[in-house]
Amino acid sequence: MMQKIYNAKMPLLDETSYFEIEIKNGIIQRLNKHNQIEARDELSFYQLTGENSEQENGWDLEGRIVLPTFADIHMHLDKSHSLPFVGNDSGTLEEAIANYKSAAPQFSDEMIKNRIRKTAFSALKYGTTIIRTHIDFHTKSDIDTTFRGVKMALEVKDELKEIIEIQVYPMLPYHPYDEEDRKRIRQVLELNIDGVGGAPHISEKPLECVDEIFAFAVEAGLPLDLHTDESDDPTVDTVLRIAEKTIEYGWQGKVVVDHLCSLSAMNESKAELVINKMKEAELMAVTLPAANMYLQGRGDKGLVRRGITRVQDLIKKQVPLAAASDNVCDPFHPFGRADMLQIAQLTGYTAHMGGKEDLIELLKMATITPRKIIGKTEWGMREGERASFVVFDSYSLPSLFAELTESRAVFQAGTWSSVVKVNIHQAVLKNPEAFYKVGN
Ligand SMILES: [Zn+2]
Repeated sequence: MMQKIYNAKMPLLDETSYFEIEIKNGIIQRLNKHNQIEARDELSFYQLTGENSEQENGWDLEGRIVLPTFADIHMHLDKSHSLPFVGNDSGTLEEAIANYKSAAPQFSDEMIKNRIRKTAFSALKYGTTIIRTHIDFHTKSDIDTTFRGVKMALEVKDELKEIIEIQVYPMLPYHPYDEEDRKRIRQVLELNIDGVGGAPHISEKPLECVDEIFAFAVEAGLPLDLHTDESDDPTVDTVLRIAEKTIEYGWQGKVVVDHLCSLSAMNESKAELVINKMKEAELMAVTLPAANMYLQGRGDKGLVRRGITRVQDLIKKQVPLAAASDNVCDPFHPFGRADMLQIAQLTGYTAHMGGKEDLIELLKMATITPRKIIGKTEWGMREGERASFVVFDSYSLPSLFAELTESRAVFQAGTWSSVVKVNIHQAVLKNPEAFYKVGN
């Protein structure tokens, strides 16, 4: 069946034009560009999002915004919505890690799976169809607890694969490792995981940790995505060792460094050295404004450091930089709704970006740049590509950012995977039973 969408505003393709989109069998056949809105006698946005949402013929957007679906490439789905079970009185990263670790043995398989589903569906509702999730992997726990998160994430990944792509990255434990740690690490690397995560800067021996994590990833032939220098301390610079190892192993283009909070605390010359080294090693980066605004600067009095990496400097140097959600409603970050538009807005606040070109850049950081970082070439909204886009009930970029409208429709895998107008229960999903089970 041919599906047609009229009068779409697609600011990442062309800010001033309107588009007619023709989709057949889930593939974008043709994009017709015109200079102004053309009057149509088709279903309007409100008609589509009303009671009978299955309509799949013509749809007149009347100038509303269409973007590629979001790619949220740094989340912690297993931890999300654990806040009722795991608190954090001090609000620090250290207490969050300790409390979560001691609570983990009490979580059942179903609890973990339901938390992963709940956040994945929330992300889908807001327009995300690609998620990379880091997963807890504590080798000092009992064997079931150690593997529970990764195994449950792989099960839900498979369960939801039609509507949302989930990449699973176990976080390798903190160094030093004993033989039992190494044995369990080798076991997890043999599962059907997508890459190797970790947070070497927290280890007792951070540099040795970087070295050993790299050796494991290279041995398994897997890409790396590391929590890196999530610290206010300007002397924390494991990113330099990560860059060295990337070059040594020829792992360029396969290594992502996240957070880089200490980079913002460094003086200008040190920061420049670090960014140049990142560029040389072809490292790619992710900023996590929500969690870091919450966690960093806890020891500061007066002017409090915000812990947000040097977003504009990295972009200027053309280091691929995405924004992502990180934690959602857990002891690491008690807020959030897995909405990348909200994350883009927060990035605008924290990186002082709000001009016209900035808004385009912020949207790229939530859509096409994360795709590029994880090796995807399709945007989901160009001719010949598998259609994967979000319609927003917004007519301009400033109003999109100001209102963060919840009225969105997600087209994915040849159909409307989610059509939401304000209320989550109005979502139309391929698998509504699973949705309601976790949604309620
Ligand atoms: Zn994280």
